[in-house]
Amino acid sequence: MPNRLTGTVAAVTGGDQGIGRAIAERLAQEGADVAICYRKNKKGADEVVDSITATKRRAAAFQADVGSVADGQRFIEQAVEALGKVDILVNNAGLEKRADFWEVTEEDFDAVLNVNLKGMFFVTQAVVRHLRQARRSGKIINISSVHEELPFPHFASYCASKGGIKMLTRNLAIELAPDRITINSIAPGAIETPINTKLLNDPVKLKELLGNIPLGRLGKPEDVAGLASFLASDESDYVTGSTFFVDGGLLWNYQEQ
Ligand code: NAP
Repeated sequence: MPNRLTGTVAAVTGGDQGIGRAIAERLAQEGADVAICYRKNKKGADEVVDSITATKRRAAAFQADVGSVADGQRFIEQAVEALGKVDILVNNAGLEKRADFWEVTEEDFDAVLNVNLKGMFFVTQAVVRHLRQARRSGKIINISSVHEELPFPHFASYCASKGGIKMLTRNLAIELAPDRITINSIAPGAIETPINTKLLNDPVKLKELLGNIPLGRLGKPEDVAGLASFLASDESDYVTGSTFFVDGGLLWNYQEQ
């Protein structure tokens, strides 16, 4: 494993399981100290802290509802207090709610948009303020989705949130460049994590989905984590405002029989 993140501190939202956990552990394996936040899965968060500290890196976990601006800001303050600074932010926390468009409730819409878009907006703002005050460069990595491009019927609020992330990434790339803060998105396809539990337990739907993935398998959280560590490192210094798809070819899979 390369040691390209030695001396850095990363903050990962939703780092207690799934993609966020794999990224938190990968960044630590490459030398970063890592703060994570979780919404309710304290057990998972404690396991991540243990697995990172076992590799001789520092780690800390904090409860925060990223859908609350105050909580998100507090997470960054706590991360700085515990680990001294933040150089890398991974906006990973996210959720989806399935419903026909005409049945979507305001409550569910707000739950999705508040975490996936508003939350990441203000956590990013907190990290940017911290970096500007310290006059340090930084890396922001947003976990978006193929659904920032690809329609997903019955998940309109999720698609709206990920489409918003796409434009925010482009916009901030320009606005933050003078401060040497880069921002990029990773757009996963179908990854084996708890968000997909229903699908993973439905053999018919799963087979249908696999038929749409040219590489013929679901992704693993580790498939996403490798790219995140590159984007967190100096090796990506000239990369900003881009979305990178980790989807086994799903997004552009068009074929005629
Ligand atoms: P997951 O296993 O369900 O994990 C979601 C994470 O977000 C959990 O750590 C959860 O914390 C956290 N979270 C949710 N709401 C939160 C809130 N209000 N405040 C703080 N944390 C909150 O799903 P995942 O697949 O790893 O998803 C991670 C990201 O990848 C999401 O942004 C998702 O949209 C994106 N993504 C996933 C896939 C996929 O196929 N898996 C594909 C494309 C994009 P708790 O565990 O404590 O609730």
